[in-house]
Amino acid sequence: PTSAARLSISNLSVNYGKARALANINLSVEQQEIITIIGLNGAGKTTLMRSITGLKKISEGEIIFNNKNLAGCSVDQRVKYGIAMVPEGRSLFPKMTVRENLVMGAYTRRDKEEITNSLDKVMNLFPDLKKKVSDRAESLSGGQQQMVAIGRALMSDPRLLLLDEPSIGLAPIIVQHIAEMIKEINRQHGVSILLVEQNARVAMSLADRVYVLETGEIVLEGPADKLRENTRVQEAYLGMK
Ligand code: ATP
Repeated sequence: PTSAARLSISNLSVNYGKARALANINLSVEQQEIITIIGLNGAGKTTLMRSITGLKKISEGEIIFNNKNLAGCSVDQRVKYGIAMVPEGRSLFPKMTVRENLVMGAYTRRDKEEITNSLDKVMNLFPDLKKKVSDRAESLSGGQQQMVAIGRALMSDPRLLLLDEPSIGLAPIIVQHIAEMIKEINRQHGVSILLVEQNARVAMSLADRVYVLETGEIVLEGPADKLRENTRVQEAYLGMK
């Protein structure tokens, strides 16, 4: 948590009514980092993502993005500051074309030329989508739909990309391809990545650092290489004994 951190979360707690979903979370993402959070169903991963995007009101603590405290910032303001999210299940507009879906991601931007530039960038990143821009989203494969969802998030020109379970429902080879794309977005385009995953194997291979979330609390954190050697992680998340 230096002053250079892109995202810095301290003492964050979040409730649903009286039920505490996140308790005293401390987490940071440096500018050049890919961070993954692993956790089982119901651990609080989605709640954490929604707290950062402003979709869920926080109960305690602070979320600082590029040295700005996000308290009181609307969802749209956060998008303008540079936070974009790829939601679980992708939530594309199935009857709309790929291009229309992508352009939706630029809804906070005005400059037509910049939007066109971003569209070109997304096409270069995902050449598979070039031939499909006029096709309905529903006609694409699962992997291609995930690319559209990521591309749509990139259309707001973010500095931080949040991904909620990008590997869900995809074949291993497609997951590998998406993981490479995420690395490229980070390394070539300087976008910090915060990703939550139930698939710990994928999460660990992609991440610089990993946090383990269990019933709303961070129970372990460290470099991916280190955590891979941790027996608790191996037993609970990697299916090893
Ligand atoms: P999943 O992988 O199933 O999405 P998750 O790790 O993302 O799980 P969350 O969806 O953040 O977990 O849920 C964390 C806790 O908060 C769970 O106990 C869940 O039941 C509870 N919770 C989530 N959303 C709500 C809600 N809208 N109202 C009440 N409780 C909720």
